[in-house]
Amino acid sequence: MPSLIFRKGLDLKHAVAGMLADNYHSDLVERIKAEDFSYRAGRLTVHLAREFGFCYGVDRAVDYAYQTRQRFPDRPVYLTGEIIHNPHVNDKLASMGIRFLSVDRAANDRLGPGDVVILPAFGVTVAMLQQLERRGCTLIDTTCGSVLNVWKNVRRYAEAGFTSVIHGKVWHEETQATASHAAGSGGKFLVVLDRAETQLVCDYIAGRGDRAAFLAKFVRAASEGFDPDADLQRIGLANQTTMLMSESLELGEMIRAAMVDRYGDAALATHYQAFDTICSATQDRQDAVTALLRDKAIDLMIVIGGYNSSNTANLARICAASRTTFHIADPDCLQSRTTIRHRPVGRKDEVVTTGWLPAEGAITVGLTSGASTPDNLVGAAISRLETFCA
Ligand code: SF4
Repeated sequence: MPSLIFRKGLDLKHAVAGMLADNYHSDLVERIKAEDFSYRAGRLTVHLAREFGFCYGVDRAVDYAYQTRQRFPDRPVYLTGEIIHNPHVNDKLASMGIRFLSVDRAANDRLGPGDVVILPAFGVTVAMLQQLERRGCTLIDTTCGSVLNVWKNVRRYAEAGFTSVIHGKVWHEETQATASHAAGSGGKFLVVLDRAETQLVCDYIAGRGDRAAFLAKFVRAASEGFDPDADLQRIGLANQTTMLMSESLELGEMIRAAMVDRYGDAALATHYQAFDTICSATQDRQDAVTALLRDKAIDLMIVIGGYNSSNTANLARICAASRTTFHIADPDCLQSRTTIRHRPVGRKDEVVTTGWLPAEGAITVGLTSGASTPDNLVGAAISRLETFCA
């Protein structure tokens, strides 16, 4: 029995609008936005970035998940994994009876036509989609249009014989899905995380690489049968949509320069292509926080979002370059005026810091949140700050 796939919602937008507002809206945040994104209470001043929180893709994915529950109240509803990288939102969906295939692994083998499966905003791999289709599940596809755009580009690279070099995190669902689309179209791919990994690629292009060491380094980040001697001759650059724009541009420039050195300017077009596939929501949030840091006298920055949220981590990186920055997963991390739980930039663990907020005197806090963070968490964080500064 062929799968039924819903890609444009389930015609229940109005039916779930109230629930979504109850769960994720913040009157306080709306008021602050209306007052030029600033809030003052006693010695505390908070400046919000002018773009923060839920992006269009997340908004849509969460909306579709609520519509799915409403439309299929009696059928098992699953998510392939986290719908977005925010524990608050995922917990909320779990409390509505939506189960996670990434947790309930045994359920994967039981899936059948009676089951409904929601595909997350960052998409799923070609193999997973085919498996779900074979089982005849009803699918609710919430893959963001910006992610589909990346897939279109890597498929185009594959058809033109270019290897997709993807600036991304190899463990991230979106990058895995993107890589699968390159491979699924008969192409090769290589995922690079940062400058250091891109330098290895550039060295290989220049003829300075060690084949065995290169293959060992990228064993989990390259397509099957990847041959650096053949597969680094024509490269098309793509990005995970939530990477740091400035870094992606730098990596692209490194590869472009390596190709010019190796093959000459005139032949560049036949050896290197690039499309900026960072999504506009990510870009807008990065630009807004950069402007906030530039324009306001901020004493410390708070960045709210899941620790596994790539775009949130990159907002924290931008802030930490010039200010004391605390990346917190949710408002509960603001434990008291003296202690805060947070994840320092570049680390994987959460730590507790004491003495993070001055005991007296005026304090100006800058605040932003990742694309998967609902406004109610931002509002709750501001309320806590106000209490601590009272
Ligand atoms: S961060 Fe960008 S690509 Fe990801 S869901 Fe939001 S808009 Fe779409």
